[in-house]
Amino acid sequence: MALTGVQIFKLLPKTNCKKCGHPTCLAFAMKLAQRQASLDSCPDVSEEAKQVLGEASAPPIRPVTFGAADKAAKMGEETVLFRHEKKFVNPCAFAVEVKDTMSGDEINKIADDVLNSEIDRVGQKLRVDAVFISNASNDAGKFESAVKAVAAKAPAVPLIISTSNPAAAEAALKLVAGKRPILYGADESNADAMAGLAKTYKVILGVAAKGLDALSTLTEKIKGLGVDDMVIDPGSRNAKEIIQDNTLIRRAAVKKNFKALGYPVITFAQRDDKMLELLMAALGVAKYSSIVVMSSIEKWKDLALFTLRQNIYTDPQVPMQVEQKVYNIGEPTPESPLMITTNFSLTYFIVSGEIENSKVPCRLAVMDCEGLSVLTGWAAGKFTASKIATFLQESGIEKDLKNKELIIPGYVAILSGAIEEKLPGWTITVGPREANALPAFLKSR
Ligand code: SF4
Repeated sequence: MALTGVQIFKLLPKTNCKKCGHPTCLAFAMKLAQRQASLDSCPDVSEEAKQVLGEASAPPIRPVTFGAADKAAKMGEETVLFRHEKKFVNPCAFAVEVKDTMSGDEINKIADDVLNSEIDRVGQKLRVDAVFISNASNDAGKFESAVKAVAAKAPAVPLIISTSNPAAAEAALKLVAGKRPILYGADESNADAMAGLAKTYKVILGVAAKGLDALSTLTEKIKGLGVDDMVIDPGSRNAKEIIQDNTLIRRAAVKKNFKALGYPVITFAQRDDKMLELLMAALGVAKYSSIVVMSSIEKWKDLALFTLRQNIYTDPQVPMQVEQKVYNIGEPTPESPLMITTNFSLTYFIVSGEIENSKVPCRLAVMDCEGLSVLTGWAAGKFTASKIATFLQESGIEKDLKNKELIIPGYVAILSGAIEEKLPGWTITVGPREANALPAFLKSR
């Protein structure tokens, strides 16, 4: 049961020392109760209080990490139903299915596609995160061979090993247990044996049951057998069931602190129709899935899903921004153009990408506007003539230029006269409004 702020306050040192970054112990207690602070921030909390509060302040959805090193995928830790209440914490992982009935070439092709799926978008690396290997043949030997083939081709990629046969599971786990995979396939019929394997090989257990009552009974049983790290599958396979079950699970965990469903959810989106598969996967991303399993990887599908996932899992209270400075694009000379924009990440990456496309070496002055785009920054009084002039003067860029010319975004053409007044001796040129017109603009100069 979650504790109230006052109940938490009674367990804190009550010295109001502020070391936690809050003005009083009561303020910190209130934040803990809202799950907007971590108990670790108070260095003076007693061991006894830690034990009580640790449990009470633990995220309602258990944090679980599978895979190892820099490709490990962290799941869970969510604390809210809606992104605008705080933020969604750990982006859902995408996994692609490899069936052990596939040929060696087919398996290698999928492993290659996973390795090559990574793209860079607004400064973040996005990729298909994992391979889901299923025992479609029901043959333990074939399953072991498929796991071996994927592990050899893509050794760093996190794995989900799917079989309900404990003997096949054990043979596969012996190959890859050190990579902390998920063993998916525990159900009512094999729970004891699968829980035993999860404990022995220290892996995460994927637990499946039809319906939330059966699922919560099963997770409690498995927890009683000594397995803490699980991912859960309520058996939902169509859109209506996925929305319904995932919402009820999230609500039970977050609002009722119902621990038996407080685990990351795995969703199966595989469809023969690729567009339908994309829509099912998008549903999982939007509605609380921590892992979405697909049947194939296609670039167009990846791009749509990566963008959706990135948008949903960015913190709405923290604008994405890049560092304020003058960036060189290509190898600019003293004659190269100087352009200016704001430090909203998306603006920076779009503008710099279009300048790169033009193949014209440039300098791009990126001004700190607290992560706002050009028009919003201007409207908010952060991208103004005097602030632009101060930024350029303090940057010292003038000494690197033969001609003191600054190209400003077309949307703020209105600023050109005022900037010229603030920067005597400079020429202010109005560039295009949209970044995609930059290559033609730069080449025509
Ligand atoms: Fe209170 Fe601990 Fe914060 Fe100090 S650090 S104000 S003792 S909660």
